[in-house]
Amino acid sequence: MPSLEGKSAVVTGASSGIGAATARALAAEGARVVGGARRTDRIAAPVTALQLDVTEPASCERFVTAAAEELSGLDILVNAAGLALGRDPFDDSTEEDERLVLETNVNGLIRMTRLCLPHLRDGGHIVNIGSVAGRQAYEKGSLYVTSKFAVRGFTYALREDLLGRPIHITTVDPGLVQTDFSLVRFRGDDTTARKVYEGVEAMQPGDIAECIVFAVTRPSHVNIDELVVKALAQSSGGRILRTES
Ligand code: NAP
Repeated sequence: MPSLEGKSAVVTGASSGIGAATARALAAEGARVVGGARRTDRIAAPVTALQLDVTEPASCERFVTAAAEELSGLDILVNAAGLALGRDPFDDSTEEDERLVLETNVNGLIRMTRLCLPHLRDGGHIVNIGSVAGRQAYEKGSLYVTSKFAVRGFTYALREDLLGRPIHITTVDPGLVQTDFSLVRFRGDDTTARKVYEGVEAMQPGDIAECIVFAVTRPSHVNIDELVVKALAQSSGGRILRTES
């Protein structure tokens, strides 16, 4: 029997990359899945697509109400929506970018968690997608690094506040995964984005989705607190071994 038969899940950032792969993987394990993103046309069946902008409180409220109704309650929330903007020294960063990165990665994730918690059934699970950038800083990534340290801090704090309740919480902190992340980070500059994945075997979104499925399918008395998953050729966000081309 598929391990998540009878369970329901919400995945944010389900239109691309890690969120899309996770939504598909949870569905393949038998869960009914609602995926949220701004580009709902990129979310395909069996995942049910619902419009979501995590930076907009009203959008989040509409999304959670509709998802909880569609799924008759929730067992799993995966907070995968996120982004970075630019690879610049802090002096060159802007307040506009700061707002969008923190609003999306931090406030959006916290907001979605707050809204989903009342719908989570006993035995439920919250999975936050952090990053190795949230464990070790690297140069020219200050806003993103700040946001992912905040995700880890929030996840630790939530673990404390949920202690004693039958809800699991996990942070999954990936290293280099080949997705549209770099295309977004470099504002649509495909050539620069592609260089990020040159000369190195990056992880694929499915590699992270498999880890998430592992975390949410443990026995109910087990909580996987943290999973740090890197490409073999990297030791941190800032140190990646590349072959010469
Ligand atoms: P991606 O392919 O660019 O996917 C990002 C997802 O986030 C998209 O589905 C996007 O959907 C969604 N999103 C962005 N802003 C949103 C908003 N305001 N409201 C709702 N959804 C929003 O990148 P990815 O690599 O899969 O990133 C997923 C998560 O993994 C992020 O939290 C990222 O920080 C983290 N991560 C990635 C890597 C990596 O190397 N790729 C490493 C560590 C951690 P729409 O644009 O359609 O709204």
